[in-house]
Amino acid sequence: MTNQIKCECGSWMMLRTARRGYNAGNKFWGCASYPRCKKTQNYLTQEDIEAAEQRVYDAYEARATMTYGDYVMELYENAPYQGW
Ligand SMILES: [Zn+2]
Repeated sequence: MTNQIKCECGSWMMLRTARRGYNAGNKFWGCASYPRCKKTQNYLTQEDIEAAEQRVYDAYEARATMTYGDYVMELYENAPYQGW
C-alpha cells in the first residue's frame, strides 16, 4: 500500500467512485468510518500531480516576480493531496 492515506479521525480512507453528481465516475477518497465520518478527499493520479506541478511551473516561469514561497503555496493549492 503505497498511497493509502489516513483520515483526520484516524481511520483509513477508502478509494470510492462517485455514483451521482457533477463528478460521477470520478474516484475520491472517503473515510472508512462513513457515515459516522463524512470526510472525503480528492483522489489524484500521478498524472494529475505531474500536470498540476507543470501548471505551477509554467505559472512560475511566466511570473518572474513570484517568490519560491508563492510557488510552493500554489503547488499545494493545485494539488490538495496529503499523501506525499
Ligand atoms: Zn474519518
